[in-house]
Amino acid sequence: MSQTEQIALALGSNLGDSLTILPQALTHLVEKYGLHLLTHSHWYRTPPLGPPQPDFINGCALLAMTHSPTDLLQILLATEADFGRIRKGKWQPRTLDLDIIFYGNERIHTPQLTIPHPEYHRRAFVLLPLAEIAPDWCDPQTGVTVKALAQQVDGSGIMMVGAI
Ligand code: ADP
Ligand code: MG
Repeated sequence: MSQTEQIALALGSNLGDSLTILPQALTHLVEKYGLHLLTHSHWYRTPPLGPPQPDFINGCALLAMTHSPTDLLQILLATEADFGRIRKGKWQPRTLDLDIIFYGNERIHTPQLTIPHPEYHRRAFVLLPLAEIAPDWCDPQTGVTVKALAQQVDGSGIMMVGAI
């Protein structure tokens, strides 16, 4: 029996009814895969990176579960597919993107999985919502808190769209 781990996920969507898709994705993780939802942030509207495409809706959630990191990644990829995500490459619009930011206090570097997420500390659209729900979570690599990281990024252009 695996140990219960707390995980931090980043969610994003910029195709379809994103404000409906994101909370539905969390419900799907609970009902289909038995993850326990501890809390989620408000949702934020974020200008896209890369080529022109619709704005993203982003947010973060904390969950508890006993799945291994590899199993969790497979669950997230399957959930993205369940919500109609078609992979066309980087910087493309997507109905659902689910990224693992933290898996407990673990550090993982495999070809399939890097945890903590390699880009999160630069991304205001991850750090602003994550700082709402886990300000004191320390990056297991650097020991820096989410709150401190969030204060270092430029959050202009990112707007909270309200509680769901
Ligand atoms: P991105 O989120 O960077 O736009 P994708 O969602 O298409 O890219 O993910 C591509 C791959 O990234 C996944 O199939 C997975 O193997 C890999 N990956 C590596 N680290 C992580 C992580 N921490 N969370 C989610 N996916 C990850
Ligand atoms: Mg992703």
